[in-house]
Amino acid sequence: MTTAKASPKLPPSKLFINGQWVDASGGRTLPTVNPATEEVITQIAEASQEDVDRAVKAARAAFDSGKWSERKGRDRGKILWKIGELLRQRTDEVALLETLDNGKPIFESGKIDVPFCAECFQYYAGWAGKHSGDVNEVAGNFFNFTLREPVGVIGAIVPWNFPLLLTVWKVAPALAMGNTVVLKPSKETSLTALKLAEICQEAGLPDGVLNVVTGPGSTVGAALVKHPMVDKIAFTGDTSTGKEIMRSSAETLKRVTLELGGKSPNIVLDDADIEAAARGATTGIFYGKGEVCGAGSRLLVAEKAHDALMEQLLDRTKRFQPGDPLDPKTRLGALVNRDQLTKVSRYVEEGKQAGAALVAGGGRWASPGGKGFFFQPTIFDRVEPSYSIAREEIFGPVLSVISFKDLDDLVAKANQTIYGLAAGVWSRDIKKAMYVARKLRAGTVWINTYNMYDTGAPWGGFKQSGFGRELGPYALESYTEVKSVWVDMNM
Ligand code: NAD
Repeated sequence: MTTAKASPKLPPSKLFINGQWVDASGGRTLPTVNPATEEVITQIAEASQEDVDRAVKAARAAFDSGKWSERKGRDRGKILWKIGELLRQRTDEVALLETLDNGKPIFESGKIDVPFCAECFQYYAGWAGKHSGDVNEVAGNFFNFTLREPVGVIGAIVPWNFPLLLTVWKVAPALAMGNTVVLKPSKETSLTALKLAEICQEAGLPDGVLNVVTGPGSTVGAALVKHPMVDKIAFTGDTSTGKEIMRSSAETLKRVTLELGGKSPNIVLDDADIEAAARGATTGIFYGKGEVCGAGSRLLVAEKAHDALMEQLLDRTKRFQPGDPLDPKTRLGALVNRDQLTKVSRYVEEGKQAGAALVAGGGRWASPGGKGFFFQPTIFDRVEPSYSIAREEIFGPVLSVISFKDLDDLVAKANQTIYGLAAGVWSRDIKKAMYVARKLRAGTVWINTYNMYDTGAPWGGFKQSGFGRELGPYALESYTEVKSVWVDMNM
């Protein structure tokens, strides 16, 4: 393992409030652990309720002062562009932190996550000042127009699976539209959020516009959600946490957007290009160690295509053996922590007991150093939709293969879930693929591809996968309020 040799440029083990690095008021800290070695990387500050209050007040004061919200959009855009530029220049530095903290392969953080973040800042830099409102036809001699104004103080709460990427999906459009932000990363993976604060300051973002408070969700996150000076919560995480957030934001009637869990079907019709489908099925579940909200964790296969697909799938799975996340060739890293390893192992046991056929993996992977929360790429065949491995989000490299007879059977099985985040359809017949795509209750459908994301394309869920859309012009809606202005034109 080369992990121990990596020497990251760590951000301060502090909170970032009003442009200052400060200790948590109670002086408390928490360790953050490298999941590939189980070693402590550094400490992060554990914010108190008082610290959250200070961060929110700083964001409120920055917003109310107008120094950001009333600045010309194109000037805000220049700073966002610069943040993107700095991120791009520091890709290696930021990607290393992300990999050490999360366990994802350096290939993913360096070639995909960080470049996507840079691009996202620059995409929204272009939108700043270009989402301003309409003139509306109204009766009588009146002039009516709408203004798009920032919502105010945004509480951004982010999970550990794409720590920086999911942060940027919120922070970039929020800042572009003139909001100020209090960011709460996951306590498992706070380092790149703190690094982002450093970069934003260097790019010239005024004090108080972005604040970062670290610590547990049950205290720090909950305090942010309850705080009366926060106008909106932008949340990505577990569906149960999303429900809790919705309940507690009701008290102050905050705007809420929720990007939650998934159990996405990846569907192979009998006329699919089997090689391409097998490739899409493996990357669909093993990319990001399966700790991906849109992971294609249910592979629905036409009976006729089953045997040919399974053969290729098992062959391709061999290429996804776990390895040192810092090795550029590694494609499957370490799960984020011991809890996640325990959870994934429990589901695998449930799958075996239910009667599914374990055809690949199924256990912890022993690294050469004997440490790390690695799990083998795992495939269950002959899974029934009623099994827990087919219904619940495992959030690990575990694929459930389910057969279907015809299109009606397929559509029923695909939609037999509380979730509705994403889906894939593999077919050479575009009409059939489109028919299925229309029938699926999911926020994203990929046809003859999987795991495609772009800053320009919206992302979000149907059903209990949440509501609201991130990315593209859609995100601009959730970071602005519409103000209708009337002018009496009668002489
Ligand atoms: P989580 O819900 O446990 O935590 C997410 C964030 O919320 C963390 O920062 C956490 O500290 C905070 N939090 C926890 N309890 C809170 C509370 N009561 N009040 C306020 N904040 C609280 O989720 P996780 O385990 O970090 O992430 C995995 C989950 O995220 C999975 O279910 C996954 O599907 C989901 N996810 C969804 C998307 C999407 O775009 N739909 C993307 C990535 C991850």
